[in-house]
Amino acid sequence: MLKTDPFWWEDFAAFDGGPAEQPEACDVVVVGAGLTGCSAALTLARAGQKVLVLDAQRPGYGASTRNGGMIGGGYRLSQAEMIALYGPETASRLLMESHVESLAFAVSRIKDEGIDCDYHQYGRFRGQWNDAEYDATARSLDDLRKLVPINVEMVPKSRQRSEIGSDLYSGGMLLLDHGGVHPGKYLNGMLAAATRAGSQVMGDTPALAVDRAGSDFRVTTPRGTIRAGAVLMATNGYTQPRFAWLKRRIIPVSSYLIATEELPDGMADELFPTGRMCVETRFRHCYFRLSPDCKRVVLGGRAAMGKISTTRSAIILRSLLVEIFPQLKNIALTHSWTGHTGFTFSFVPNIGQSDGIWHALGYSGSGNALAPYLGHKAALQMLGDAGGETGFSKTTLETRFWYRNRPWYLPFAHALYRMKDMQDDRRRGK
Ligand SMILES: Cc1cc2nc3c(=O)[nH]c(=O)nc-3n(C[C@H](O)[C@H](O)[C@H](O)COP(=O)(O)OP(=O)(O)OC[C@H]3O[C@@H](n4cnc5c(N)ncnc54)[C@H](O)[C@@H]3O)c2cc1C
Repeated sequence: MLKTDPFWWEDFAAFDGGPAEQPEACDVVVVGAGLTGCSAALTLARAGQKVLVLDAQRPGYGASTRNGGMIGGGYRLSQAEMIALYGPETASRLLMESHVESLAFAVSRIKDEGIDCDYHQYGRFRGQWNDAEYDATARSLDDLRKLVPINVEMVPKSRQRSEIGSDLYSGGMLLLDHGGVHPGKYLNGMLAAATRAGSQVMGDTPALAVDRAGSDFRVTTPRGTIRAGAVLMATNGYTQPRFAWLKRRIIPVSSYLIATEELPDGMADELFPTGRMCVETRFRHCYFRLSPDCKRVVLGGRAAMGKISTTRSAIILRSLLVEIFPQLKNIALTHSWTGHTGFTFSFVPNIGQSDGIWHALGYSGSGNALAPYLGHKAALQMLGDAGGETGFSKTTLETRFWYRNRPWYLPFAHALYRMKDMQDDRRRGK
C-alpha cells in the first residue's frame, strides 16, 4: 500500500500547538506558516515586532514540506523574455536576485540559524532533451554569465555517465552552486528559528477574513479576532477562495512526487555517481534525486495539470522513472504524494500590497531559496527598512478576466501539455 503523506513527513517534527489562547492584538499577523511566513516572522521578530503566524493546518502543511528539496535559482522564462517583460534594468536585477542573492540568503539563513536540514551543495544536472537544445544552451551560457556570476558548465553526452546513470539525455548543464535539503527538516528549522526569535505560531487556525479597522487590521479566525498593525499573506498555492483578490492572481498547479523503496547495495552510486540534484528540459519536467540518506530515489513531475489520484500519478511517474533509469524496473514505490505550487500569470513572484495587506508569493514552481528570501524582503519593507528593496516589488501580479477562483481550464492546459509531450517525442525522433 503506497503512503500518501510526503516521504519527508517521516522526519518532520510534531508541532507543539503554539499558545493556548489566541492573542487579542499584535504588531503583525502572518497568514501561512511555510518558508515565506516563517522567514518573514523571523525577520520581524528580530526587529522587535510582536508577531503571530497563523496556519489553517499544521504549520508547514503546504508546499514547503512536500517539495523535491532542490535549492537553487533561475526562472521559467529566458533572459530575453524577462527583458521584454520588465526592461533590461529590472530584468538584470531579477536575474541576479533569483540566481545568486536568494540562494546565498537561504544558505546563510540555514547556517546562521543552525538549521539541521541535510543541506549540501550537490550541484544540479539539467539534462538536455536533444542535441540541438544542448548546443543552444551551451551558446546561451555566455550571455547569462555576462548578466550574473553563476558557476555553470556543460557536460557533453560522452561524459554524462560520470554525472548520472542514464543515457536518456543529450548531455546536460551543471549548475554547481545549487544544492539539496530535506524539506521537512528545513521547515522545522525555519519554524524553530522564528519561534526562538519570539514569534508565536498557531496551527489549525485559518484566517477567515482580514478587514481594515482604522489604521490597523482585524483578522478573524474561528477563535475570535486579532487586532494587528499589519498583515502579510504568505499562502502561495494554498491561497483560499475567501481571499478573492489574491486567489484570482495565484494559480494552484499540482505537482506529484514518488519515493522508491530502499535501493540494493551499489545502485545509488550507479544512478547518482556525484549525488547531483537532477532536472530536465522536456515539458514533462521531471526532477529527481537521492534521499539525503542515499537509500531511495525521489522523483517529481507534472503527472497531470489537474487533480488526479496519487495512485494514478504513481503509475505515470513510475513509468517516467523507469524511462530515465531502466535499472529501477523491479524497484517498488513506497510513497506517492502531491502538493500545490503557486503560479503567477507572468511566472515571476511578487511582493506588494492590496488595500494595505501585504503579500509575498507566486514562486511558480520553485521556492526553496526564493520563499525565505521574499519573506525576509517583505518583512524589511513592512518595517520601512531600505534593505527591503527588491526587483520583486516591480513585477506584476495580474489576473485575467476569464480567471475566477477555479482553474476550470486546467484540463485544457493538460491537453495542450500532452501535445507538447508528443512534440518532445518528435523532437527526439520517436
Ligand atoms: C510537489 C512540489 C515540489 C516542489 N519542488 C521544489 C523544489 O524541488 N525546489 C524548489 O525550490 N521549490 C519546489 N517547490 C516549490 C516550493 O515548495 C514552494 O514555492 C514554497 O514552498 C512556497 O512556500 P510558501 O511558504 O510561500 O507556501 P507554502 O509552503 O505552500 O505554505 C502556505 C501555507 O499557507 C497556509 N494557509 C493557506 N490559507 C490560509 C489561511 N486562510 N489561514 C492560515 N493559513 C493558510 C497553508 O496551510 C500552508 O501551510 C515544489 C512545490 C511542490 C508543491
